[in-house]
Amino acid sequence: MNALWHDGHLLSQVNWCREVSGRTLHALVSVPSHSALDEARMGPWPKREFAKIRALGVAPPRKRLIAGDEKGFLLNWKRAPALYVYTDSLESHPYVVRSASRGTVVPTFLLPIPHESKQYLSTWASNVQEIDSIWLTSSDALEVATYRELADPKSSLNVIGEEHRAEIEAATGKPTYLHLYRYFGAKDEKARECPRCGRRMRRTPQAKRLLPPGDGGLLSFGARCESCRTVTSDPVDDERPDLASIGRWHPTSKTRVRRK
Ligand SMILES: [Zn+2]
Repeated sequence: MNALWHDGHLLSQVNWCREVSGRTLHALVSVPSHSALDEARMGPWPKREFAKIRALGVAPPRKRLIAGDEKGFLLNWKRAPALYVYTDSLESHPYVVRSASRGTVVPTFLLPIPHESKQYLSTWASNVQEIDSIWLTSSDALEVATYRELADPKSSLNVIGEEHRAEIEAATGKPTYLHLYRYFGAKDEKARECPRCGRRMRRTPQAKRLLPPGDGGLLSFGARCESCRTVTSDPVDDERPDLASIGRWHPTSKTRVRRK
């Protein structure tokens, strides 16, 4: 199950349960599509695990869809006009790639990137979700440290996120954006410079905003940069000038892409 989750075949790492009835082990999992458990679609790691099960001489795993129809919620990346990478602590699954048009989640296991990259992407998604959760519930130094990870384009979290974004864009040929947090800011940020490259960001007119952020496609974000493919929300809190500079463009803040 761990191998399947890391390759993006399951919607949740922890929301599954097992029971033994007689000589049968049952696993209840959420899957993104009917084909998610087809062995032919799996990478080397899950295939190795299935081979180990077969080597034990037990009956091969059988699957049965017992509920749900994900039609309309999940989308093959080929049908998306553009993509963006977004997650937060409200999400519990490793899916971070969405369609730009309506924010529809794109199954990771279908992306044309190496299986290793899918595993790194799932781990990165968990890190974002956990850091966001700590930020929301912490104060003082921990609040600043976690917010910096989420909002600063130079943070290790966002440098790795940028690597994933660039890899997905190169593999799919779709313009792919990366979300950077923007919660603390100034009263008026209508003319923002991109925190990553310093160019003027393209604003989304208020009348066209779709909420909540991440669920309404690219139009749910206040601003985006077409040059480096960065999207951000508008700041919510303008009474913390000490934190407003985090995630703001600094001429010396140009980022370098770190190689794995
Ligand atoms: Zn930019």
